[in-house]
Amino acid sequence: MAADTDKTELLTVSSGGQAMPYEWSIGLYGSRFFQEIKEHKRFLGIRCPKCGLVRVPPRRICGPCFQKLEELVPLSDTGTITAFSIVSYPFIDPDTGVQRPIPYTYGYIRMDGADNIFSHLINETDVEKIKVGMKVRAVFKAPEEMCGNIQDIRYFEIIR
Ligand SMILES: [Zn+2]
Repeated sequence: MAADTDKTELLTVSSGGQAMPYEWSIGLYGSRFFQEIKEHKRFLGIRCPKCGLVRVPPRRICGPCFQKLEELVPLSDTGTITAFSIVSYPFIDPDTGVQRPIPYTYGYIRMDGADNIFSHLINETDVEKIKVGMKVRAVFKAPEEMCGNIQDIRYFEIIR
């Protein structure tokens, strides 16, 4: 017997309204990173004493050098797009638990003064208006709305 796609009602199964909230420490440098954004609307990187590279967000150890990192470096809120993807496929955002409106653009951004890339949303979804090499600036939530997480940065906007 073949399934009749015109007469069969497609059913769904619900897993119920379960939630499992949890918290974890973002550490000293993670806390400083978001504190700097909230208080000064700028990014914070960290310089390796051996290779000299500045990475954002700050971390405790330089991966290639295995050096302990302690020199925090204030950075601006601007950077350059190094890669991007305009996403048109819907999925559930793990940060919010709801579907992100599509399309949206996710980009790799080299923050001014840093040597690695920082990934975040870019508020341009027209492929004719966004290019690798364009300068962008972070757009933050209002200080009273900030929660000390990556969503304190709403998105990056193209400035030229
Ligand atoms: Zn290093």
